[in-house]
Amino acid sequence: MQRVFFNEVVTRDGFQIEPEFVPTDAKVSLVDALSRCGYAKIEVTSFTSAKSIPMLRDAEEVMGRIERVEGVEYTVLVPNVRGAERALESRADEFNLVMSVSETHNLANLRMPRERSFAALREVIGLMDARVPINVSLSACFGCPMEGAAPASEVMAWADRFAELGVRGLTFCDTTGMAHPSQVSRLCEALRMRYPGLQLTLHFHNTRGMGLANVLAAAQQGIDRFDGSLGGLGGCPYAPGASGNICSEDAIHMLQAEGYETGIHLARLLVLARQLPGIVGHAVPGQVAKAGRTVDLHPEPGLVADIRSRFA
Ligand code: ZN
Repeated sequence: MQRVFFNEVVTRDGFQIEPEFVPTDAKVSLVDALSRCGYAKIEVTSFTSAKSIPMLRDAEEVMGRIERVEGVEYTVLVPNVRGAERALESRADEFNLVMSVSETHNLANLRMPRERSFAALREVIGLMDARVPINVSLSACFGCPMEGAAPASEVMAWADRFAELGVRGLTFCDTTGMAHPSQVSRLCEALRMRYPGLQLTLHFHNTRGMGLANVLAAAQQGIDRFDGSLGGLGGCPYAPGASGNICSEDAIHMLQAEGYETGIHLARLLVLARQLPGIVGHAVPGQVAKAGRTVDLHPEPGLVADIRSRFA
């Protein structure tokens, strides 16, 4: 059975663009509950400045208060050296650095050219000097809403530069939901051949309803790490209409049905998914939390017994 590992990003990627601040207590208890669901990793928060992402201004407090469960890695987003120092202080298990492979998207999202981003991230990697494992998330790997399709050669060129710096893992993000399954298959096949020693993660958004199809396409190419967001929360503030990340529980439900070993206690996770609208104050896109698992059978309606007896 093929094992797949999940990284839950709801408290970072999801909560960062919520219109209302999610209280620190709610963040801490959600992370603690997620820690008991079987995740390999949880992206807890971001050490970006409180000014640029006010929703995650409580990063230190959240990292200080969560309970560390053995076997779960607690990763955080780190934008620069200042963020790295704060994250180190908070005892994060991994730093997740982010830049875009699209120049326009990088300018819009990170307010600087890609080369400047690369230089800043290289400085973080140098400063850490292997004290903390580094993952680099590359945005817009399957297309940019301003520039269009992302050439695989461009994606690989940036991935190569980080691989040379000794990162542990690379995440390929379909930030605005532009990927389609055959494109995903091709890129994943190429990535597995090119980076056999690195942790490779795929990060999909369901902006155009192709999220789960893309997860399956990647898994079928042997990709074994995925980012997902509880309830399908998340989005990209600089991509008009960009809706959420793929929904963790929906993706896990699908992969379990397809015979993959996810390590996730799905029933427990669904309890949390059903609490999420109460935490954020609005409905969320996830489907399985509403419909139940395929194995959760319904009692037959009363009329079935009547009809059955009529045909007996
Ligand atoms: Zn995302």
